Amino acid sequence: MRSASLRPATLLVHGATTRSQFNEMSEALYLTQGFAYDTMEQAEARFNGQDPGHIYARYSNPTTAMFEERMAMLEGAEAARATASGMAAVTAAMMGQVRAGDHVVAARALFGSCLYIIEELLPRFGVSTTLVDGNDLDAWRAAMRPETKVCFLETPTNPTLQVYDIAAIAEIAHAGSAKLTVDNVFSTPLLQKPLEHGADCVIYSTTKHVDGHGRCLGGVILASKAFIDEHLHNFLRHTGPAISPFNAWVMLKSLESLAVRVAHQVKSAGLIADALAEEREVERVIYPGRADHPSAAIIRRQMSGGSTLVCFDVRGGKAAAFRFANALEVIKISNNLGDAKSIITHPATTTHQRLSVEARAAAGISEGTLRLSVGLEDPADLIEDIHAALDALQTRAMAAE
Ligand SMILES: *Cc1c(COP(=O)(O)O)cnc(C)c1O
Repeated sequence: MRSASLRPATLLVHGATTRSQFNEMSEALYLTQGFAYDTMEQAEARFNGQDPGHIYARYSNPTTAMFEERMAMLEGAEAARATASGMAAVTAAMMGQVRAGDHVVAARALFGSCLYIIEELLPRFGVSTTLVDGNDLDAWRAAMRPETKVCFLETPTNPTLQVYDIAAIAEIAHAGSAKLTVDNVFSTPLLQKPLEHGADCVIYSTTKHVDGHGRCLGGVILASKAFIDEHLHNFLRHTGPAISPFNAWVMLKSLESLAVRVAHQVKSAGLIADALAEEREVERVIYPGRADHPSAAIIRRQMSGGSTLVCFDVRGGKAAAFRFANALEVIKISNNLGDAKSIITHPATTTHQRLSVEARAAAGISEGTLRLSVGLEDPADLIEDIHAALDALQTRAMAAE
C-alpha cells in the first residue's frame, strides 16, 4: 500500500493489516502463546535470528505486531512496542534507559503512578531524580547534570491541562546527554506528535482513547528502531510486560474509529468549554483549544487541536463540586478518560488525593476543580446535563442563604 502518503484516518483503518490464508476482512486474533516450527532447523534459525518469525508471545505475536505497526504508522515512528498497561510502558521506558548513577529530570505535574516511578522507584536503584515546573525552561536547564540521561514530561498535564514546549525541552535535553520521553496520553497521536518536535520516545496508555470504550488496559512505547533496540528490546523480552494478544486485538480494532471519535470529542469539548466559561457558578475554565489558555502560543505551534478533556473550577469548593457532580445524570462519576462515555472526576479527593494540600495548590488543583473527559454523546445533551447540574447548585446555594 502507498502507506507513506495515506492520511491518518485511512492508516487507522488499513495500516499494517496482515492476512492469513483465509484473507479475512477483520484482522485475526491470534490468541496463541507459541508457534510450531516445521523442522528443528527452522527452530534453530528462529532462535539465532536468521528466520524472522515469531517465537513466543512474551516476545511478539502476529496480532500484537499489527497493533504495534499501526500505532507506529500513525505516530510516524520507526518502531513500537505494546505493553500490558500504560504504566508498564512508562516503567519499561524509564528502567530501560537508566542505570545506577544516572539522573532523571521530570516535570512535576505527572500522572500519580508516574510520580511514584520517578520519586520512589528510580531512587531505590541509585538513579537520582529532580522534579521541575514543566513551564520553567530555566528550571529544566538548571536541573541538567552531566549524568542526566532522561527528561520526562506529560503534556497536556493531568488534570489542569497545562501545555509544555516539547521542542524547547528537547533542545535542553539534547544540549546535555539526555533523551526526552513524552507521555502523550492526553493529546492522542492525532493532536500532537512529540517526535516531530524533537522528543526521542513517546508513551501511551492505550487504555484511554485508543481502546476508547473503557474495556482493556494497554500501553505502547514508540521511538526510533535504534532507541528500541538499545533501551527496550531485551528489557521487554526478559521482564515480561507483554500485552495479551486479545487486548491488542481490541485496541487494533478500536484504532479504526480513533480519528472519528477524537474529532467528535474535541469538537464537543470545545463547545462545553465555551458554555462553561459563560456560567456564573464556574470560576475558571482551562481548555487547550481556547484563546485564553496560558500556553496558547505553544499550543498553536505544537498541537493540531484542543483536547477531549476540559478542566474547570466551580465556585464553592468541594461541597459545590460534589453537589454539581452528584446532580449530573448523563455524565458519569469515574476516574478514567478517553471513554465513549463522558466522565467527571474530582482530582482533589480521588486521583490527586495523596498529594499534600500545598502540592495540589502548586499543581493548580483546588477543592472546586473538576476534570471532564468528553465522550461520544450528543454535545447538546452533555451541555443540558451540565446546565441542569449547575442550576441545582444555584438553587441549593440560594436555599442555604
Ligand atoms: C492512565 C495514564 C497512565 C497509566 O496508564 P494505565 O493504562 O492506567 O496503566 C499514564 N499516564 C497518563 C497520562 C495516564 O492518563
